[in-house]
Amino acid sequence: MAAEMGIPSGALERIFVRLDRDDVARSCAVCREDLQGDDRRRWLEARRRDFHRRVGGLREPGPPLGSQGPPRADIRERAGIQRGGDEHADQHGWRYFTDMAELHGLAPTADHFAAMVDLLGRSGRLFDAKELLESMPFEPDPVAWMTFLTACRIHGKLELGEAAAERVYELDPSSTASYIAMSNIYAAHGMWEKVASVRKKMEERGLKKLPGLSFIEVDGKLHEFSSGGKYHPRTDEICEELTRLHGLMRAAGYVPDTKAVLHDVSEGEKETMLLYHSEKMAIAFGLVSSRGSGEPIRVVKNLRVCSDCHTATKFIARIAGRDIIVRDCNRFHLFSSDGKCSCGDYW
Ligand SMILES: [Zn+2]
Ligand SMILES: [Zn+2]
Repeated sequence: MAAEMGIPSGALERIFVRLDRDDVARSCAVCREDLQGDDRRRWLEARRRDFHRRVGGLREPGPPLGSQGPPRADIRERAGIQRGGDEHADQHGWRYFTDMAELHGLAPTADHFAAMVDLLGRSGRLFDAKELLESMPFEPDPVAWMTFLTACRIHGKLELGEAAAERVYELDPSSTASYIAMSNIYAAHGMWEKVASVRKKMEERGLKKLPGLSFIEVDGKLHEFSSGGKYHPRTDEICEELTRLHGLMRAAGYVPDTKAVLHDVSEGEKETMLLYHSEKMAIAFGLVSSRGSGEPIRVVKNLRVCSDCHTATKFIARIAGRDIIVRDCNRFHLFSSDGKCSCGDYW
């Protein structure tokens, strides 16, 4: 069949090498450069059908799609309607994605592709996500590759992550996020020399990791916290509160995500470093400054909330019985006292 599709023999060989090794990986075997013109179109069409069969195989009855189809980049949001424990978000998303073209005649844009790559990637379907990237009718932009790289970071995929990072470095050399994601992956694998080399590469290119800062307004005054920074006049109280919360969180089942620490130190030290992340300090300060109040705690963070702070804040909101709203550089998170976040853990 592949020969009928006009796939060059080199590519064919690679397909079968991969087929033997890993059935799922077969979809990544053909490099886009190998195919041109009609060959490429035919290959894409066959891939699309096969992909559709596999990914869309379980067409759960999700919410109906409006007659206009999803607006731009709405796939993630729509698939997320059932999120908060919905393990079929990728399938719902895929349904919207394909319905757009098949029922509504709308061609997916780069945003739609990125949203779908995100859903597949986060669901752990990294090979499917990569296949979708490679079968896009246009060159994936750095955002799409970065989305994929983020999924690799979440799932600790080293080789796929490296390949994605290379693409982002190429397409957007000023993207600090790609270097940081790659450092995270290396750190999660204990590859500290690689972590150092990424840092060096960043320095050589004049890129700096922005320090994480969190802000909270208390009694009309804005308070700033940096990770590990202990210069606030009420630092002692804040540390005491964090230690207290940490004990309660641990008892409630919280496990610190030490993978989020990019330093080669002991597990204990990593835990301590995590505990003093800027958003946790700001939240603890919010709590000690408003005991007895039922008002939500509002924190603004200049970077994306790290995975550990996200988990920890869910525990803190539940333990304190308070809503905690965190605005990070990507979105709003409403952590409610039932221990859930409004982002459904997609951020
Ligand atoms: Zn954090
Ligand atoms: Zn969230």
